Amino acid sequence: MFDVIGFDADDTLWHNESIFNMTQEKFREILSHISPEVVDKTLSSNHIKNLKVFGYGIKGFIFSMVETSIELTNGEINGNEILKIIDSGKDMLAEPIVLLPHVKGVIDMLSKKYSLLLITKGDLFDQESKVVRSGLAEYFTAVEIVSDKNCETYKKILYRHNIAASRFLMIGNSMRSDIVPIVNIGSHAVHIPYHTTWDHEKKHPYIDPKKFKKLNHIGLLPGLIEEMA
Ligand SMILES: [Mg+2]
Repeated sequence: MFDVIGFDADDTLWHNESIFNMTQEKFREILSHISPEVVDKTLSSNHIKNLKVFGYGIKGFIFSMVETSIELTNGEINGNEILKIIDSGKDMLAEPIVLLPHVKGVIDMLSKKYSLLLITKGDLFDQESKVVRSGLAEYFTAVEIVSDKNCETYKKILYRHNIAASRFLMIGNSMRSDIVPIVNIGSHAVHIPYHTTWDHEKKHPYIDPKKFKKLNHIGLLPGLIEEMA
């Protein structure tokens, strides 16, 4: 049924969204005189708006926190507080990579039978460093770091690696990035939700739930693949 398996990285192989949530908590503390709901809402809308300018990743998030802090304080926020915001962003870039349960064993097992691709979006520098620090790089035939994940991106990747769409399976936590475009190009997909989802990734076009599989955790993947193959 398929020869190549693609994996999303953030929140599929290792924790990521939880690091953003932690930093957002610190951000709320810096702006503690403003209601947390207002802080969250403004930051989320600035972050999503800025994706068009900065792309995905931590750097865009840092700029969005700075922008939000200036906006919500009518320009009154002081330099030291802005420095605190920037430092909390730098801390995110240095956070250790924590693999999700079962990941190492599953990747090791599947790499013996299938060609594995890692397909992730975000800052090139940050994502490359995460792949190296994850200790998983050796299991993947190739690592693709892209600015966005849509039908065109996936088609280009499959073309470059000479993979027929019908022979490709993608695994990921995001319906919008890892599942919907994959189903729409005629490949197979397994959705493994992470316990928390970024608002931006929650919005996606409807697709027939019969067209993809869903698992509670990655430890169940080898069994499902055996059934599907
Ligand atoms: Mg992800």
